[in-house]
Amino acid sequence: MDADVIVVGCGAMGSQAAWQLAKRGQRVIALEQFYPGHDRGASGGDTRIFRTIYGEGPEYVPLLLKSQSLWRELESETGDDLLTMTGGLMIGPEDSEFIANLKACVDLHHLPHEVLSLDEARKRYPQHRYLDHDVVILDKQAGVLRPDRAIRAALRVAERLGARIVSPARVTAIAPTDGGVVVRTGEVVYRAPKAVITVGPWILELFPEYRKYLSPRRLIQPWFMADRPSEFSSDRFPIFCRREADANFSGFPSADGSMVKTGTNDTYEKDNLETPSDLQRTTSLDDLQEVTRQITTYLNGISGPPVRVTNYADAYTVDLDAILGWPRSDIPAFVMAGYSGHGFKLSSGMGLVAAEIICDGSSSIPVDFLSLERFSAQSAG
Ligand SMILES: Cc1cc2nc3c(=O)[nH]c(=O)nc-3n(C[C@H](O)[C@H](O)[C@H](O)COP(=O)(O)OP(=O)(O)OC[C@H]3O[C@@H](n4cnc5c(N)ncnc54)[C@H](O)[C@@H]3O)c2cc1C
Repeated sequence: MDADVIVVGCGAMGSQAAWQLAKRGQRVIALEQFYPGHDRGASGGDTRIFRTIYGEGPEYVPLLLKSQSLWRELESETGDDLLTMTGGLMIGPEDSEFIANLKACVDLHHLPHEVLSLDEARKRYPQHRYLDHDVVILDKQAGVLRPDRAIRAALRVAERLGARIVSPARVTAIAPTDGGVVVRTGEVVYRAPKAVITVGPWILELFPEYRKYLSPRRLIQPWFMADRPSEFSSDRFPIFCRREADANFSGFPSADGSMVKTGTNDTYEKDNLETPSDLQRTTSLDDLQEVTRQITTYLNGISGPPVRVTNYADAYTVDLDAILGWPRSDIPAFVMAGYSGHGFKLSSGMGLVAAEIICDGSSSIPVDFLSLERFSAQSAG
């Protein structure tokens, strides 16, 4: 055997898994098709939102809180600034599932927050245009992550602990072997008792059976020019998530004192990709008009259309929750995929989940709601 564990794919999840496995004394080989911190996968585009009062559901909160403490641990291991707290403004209609989930997070987990009246929200955060039905909740444990820096930081610490990071090394096949798994990158073959597969939106190339549950999808990432940039600085403009009947987007304070980065959260079948390698970086004028409509309808002081736009891919599942599991009974490969546009903040916690499952057989963080088995339970039911 060449290692105890082979990690395939060194993006958000793979870099953190490599760190956590190496920290537990595992001999790790981690393989990346491009180079660590590259801009072609699900983690590209400079920044990612971190938040703990989670519109996707309160079951995520323990994982989010563990992720937050691991981001801080990684910062102290490396001296890098990875997570900058800005607070997070969550805005949506009172009767929406989004707001019900936020309230459930707060009630069940007693998370630090403020509920703002619309008058107060207009006074404190005039950059948003509120509707009469809106509820506004300020998440006090929210901020901005630096994905490229975080991926490199985790791999650096993993290497320091003995992991071997190999790039560029594109895995072309994963197969069973006596007592483990064999992973091929062209002519080179690696063997280990177990593997962790974290190839993000490329998952269907290695595990086509996941096609039933997910598809790689394009997401548009636009940067808009602020009329008065100082109004969008991190001390005045927290990260935000906005859900309305005709809009679903999030955004960041200005990182360069000029532009405001936003992202639409809705994706459609028209955005499905056969493979992320086919992703077109240019955006059609129709798509640009739609993102401009959403952002200029709900934000004051932003001029459209965007001054910078690019596209990235993530794997979207049918229920927008990630999938963790061992899809093939003959191959000891643990697969983590389908983070559906909201996985980066969780990746530090997911690295720990992977290491615990590989080393102990189960995780101390409750993640059963993400298990692959939920689909077989559904079809049986
Ligand atoms: C535009 C956009 C905005 C987002 N905003 C947020 C946000 O604000 N907050 C948040 O929490 N999440 C956000 N997300 C989601 C989050 O970024 C992703 O869920 C997360 O990055 C997924 O991580 P991953 O490790 O699965 O994929 P990746 O980070 O893409 O990593 C997969 C890695 O595997 C490598 N690989 C693939 N195939 C092979 C192979 N055959 N051999 C070797 N290596 C291989 C790839 O090169 C890549 O490096 C956003 C996603 C997008 C696309």
